[in-house]
Formats: sequence, structure tokens, C-alpha cells
Amino acid sequence: MRSKKSRYHIIGGGISGLCCAKFIREKNPSAEIILYEAANHCGGRCCSFYDKHLGTDIDNATHVILGANKNILKLLQKKKFHSDIKFWDEGKLLQAHHGIKEAVLAMCNTPFGQTSRAILQTIFFRLFPFLPYKLKAAFSENNLSQTLITPLLSYPDTINYGYKLLSFHEKDGRISRLDFNKGSVELTVDDQIISALDAAAYCRIFKTPEFNFNPIINIHYRTSMPITLPRNLKLLGLKNCTAQWLFVHDKILSVTISNAADISLKDEELALKVWREICAVRQREAAFLPAYRVLRHKKATICQNEKNNSLRPCSAATCYSNLFIAGDWTMKNWPACLEAAVLSAQRAVSLL
Ligand SMILES: Cc1cc2nc3c(=O)[nH]c(=O)nc-3n(C[C@H](O)[C@H](O)[C@H](O)COP(=O)(O)OP(=O)(O)OC[C@H]3O[C@@H](n4cnc5c(N)ncnc54)[C@H](O)[C@@H]3O)c2cc1C
Repeated sequence: MRSKKSRYHIIGGGISGLCCAKFIREKNPSAEIILYEAANHCGGRCCSFYDKHLGTDIDNATHVILGANKNILKLLQKKKFHSDIKFWDEGKLLQAHHGIKEAVLAMCNTPFGQTSRAILQTIFFRLFPFLPYKLKAAFSENNLSQTLITPLLSYPDTINYGYKLLSFHEKDGRISRLDFNKGSVELTVDDQIISALDAAAYCRIFKTPEFNFNPIINIHYRTSMPITLPRNLKLLGLKNCTAQWLFVHDKILSVTISNAADISLKDEELALKVWREICAVRQREAAFLPAYRVLRHKKATICQNEKNNSLRPCSAATCYSNLFIAGDWTMKNWPACLEAAVLSAQRAVSLL
């Protein structure tokens, strides 16, 4: 880490970019940290927003965090573990070890058979250390932005919202200028840059080989009474259904469908089909469809197959001496998830 006059430019205000700001601040309290975020809020893929139709805040996506994901867990306020994950299969509740393939699909957003072997090794040796019997998982039952993102906003000195990086200039192996939609930023020889961009933006701007992505669909149902699942479970995996995971958040029931590329149903048809599955699990009649919101994330994560894993970098260093990279996709051999995002920030900051 450099002298106290150091200036750090972080591009991207998702969990990786915000963690970079936190780790820089912890190492160098007087550093100047400037964060640039294209959207008008931070959090990236991990955020909450007010949904007018449902009349309440909902999470962009319900985020599950495993007990072994120690780095992200440290940041999550009000965590609650659901240590006994169960799967529902045609009327029966099964223990976690009956759903290994479903768990891998959820973690990698890639079918088990297509997932890179190195990523599977990380999952089995580091993330499922006590499988099959003790798979612990937590998720934010309230507002993900408030529990995870808001506490991190105090670390940068400045957050420039609406600043989208378009291109850059290079001189003598260093980046000398960043060109944003709102103007350019000239860099001095002491300035350091961390890209915490998502894979699609990074590859487009820095002209590196492109990844392909897998989509995820989330559906949120709002009911007048809190919804309960069998045995009062808050989190339930479903086998052989369109819905893969159910999450209870007070009066919102959220559904996650990973690797959802083959789902061609329109929103209403999909919401109805999944609602019928939920009613079957709850052993209730599907009398009427409650208010719902379908969120389709086309580029939810990179596809975590061998080809894409081989394209991921081995280090946070780049061919530019003042540019370092962070982001869930940059951690080769790791599922592209929140834990990988935090680890990537630690790795990038350790090189500065
Ligand atoms: C539907 C869904 C479900 C998920 N479920 C889980 C889960 O259960 N558990 C889990 O651990 N993970 C889950 N993930 C993955 C998790 O959300 C990501 O791993 C994590 O949020 C990645 O953070 P990041 O900071 O690396 O990237 P991002 O959150 O993508 O942040 C990148 C930031 O860069 C900004 N940006 C982009 N282009 C520019 C530009 N040109 N200039 C400036 N800024 C730019 C973006 O606006 C964004 O804020 C899920 C993701 C999705 C989409």
C-alpha cells in the first residue's frame, strides 16, 4: 500500500467495488477513494428496490450465503441460519444430501454436468466441508440493500453515481485517462485503479475475450397473510419442479429459478405455473394468483463451465501497471457468488 496521499479510483459499485473501498480504507485511513457507478445506486446485482406493483421493497434476487462463506458473512447484518436445508420431492421432505445437484446448480447457475471440475472441487472441499449432513445457509429476510450494501457506503470519500466508464487511454503501460459518459478523469502517476466491473462491461471496455452468461429468474409473490412452508421452513429446495427454491420473507414469497434459459413462458403463465407448484407443496388449493413480480436477469452470472473458467484471470494484476481487477467472475475456480466477490476485493487490494 502506498503513502497517505494515494488516490484510488474504483469503477463499479457492486459488492466487490464497495469491499475494495472498505479494505483500502482499513489499510490506509487517509487514502482518497473515489468510486464511479453507472447506475444511480450501489449494490449492482445484489440490491433491493421499491416495487410499486407489490407496494413493498423487494430484493433484486434472494441471495443465499453458505455457512462456509465466512468473508461475506462477516459483512451481513442480522444473519439467520437455516441449518437444516430440505428438498421437496413429490410430497416428501428430503435431507440436504438428496439435493447435491440442485445445490450445485444454485451455486454456479450452471447444470452440475457442465460445471467446471475445478469449481466443483472448490465446492466440495471448501464450501460443503460437512456435507451431507450439515449444510448451513443464510439469506437476508428483510432488505438486502440495508443489510449488506448501506453499511459499506461510508468507505469511499466520493461516490459518483451515473458515471459510466466508456473507454480509457494508455501511456507507457499505464492507464493515463478514464473516459466516462460525464467527462474524463486524468490520472497522475500515483493514481491506482481497480475495475470492479461485471464481466460483460470489463471485457467490452478492456477488449478481453468475452464470456457467455446464464440467466436466473426470480418471482416474488405478495400475499395478504404471511406464507408458511411445511414445518415452518424459511428456505426450501424443490426437485422436479419449475421453481427451484422458495424463500419466505414475511408477506413475500420469493422463488429462484437458476439457469433459466429454456423457460419460454410469458410472465403470467410462468407465475401461475409456479404458484400452482407452491400451492401443491403447501397442500392448499390454488384458488387465486396473488400479486407477483417476475424479474428476469439475462446475464445473472457467467456460465461456470470449463471454457469460461479457463478465461478467468489467475491474478488481480493486468497488463496495465496501475489497473487491478475485482469482481465475482475474476476468481478462477470459484463459484461466481458474493463470497468470490469479497475474496476478489481482498486479492486486488493486497496487490496495490
Ligand atoms: C438473480 C441472481 C441471483 C443470485 N443469487 C446469488 C446467491 O444466492 N448467492 C450468492 O452468493 N450470489 C448470488 N448471485 C451472484 C451475486 O449477485 C454476484 O456474485 C455479486 O453481486 C457480484 O458482485 P460484483 O460487485 O462482482 O458485480 P456487480 O454486482 O455486477 O457489480 C458491478 C457494478 O459495476 C457497475 N457498472 C457496470 N458497467 C459499468 C461502467 N461501464 N461504468 C461504471 N460502472 C459500471 C454496475 O452497475 C454494478 O453496480 C446472484 C446473482 C443474480 C443476478
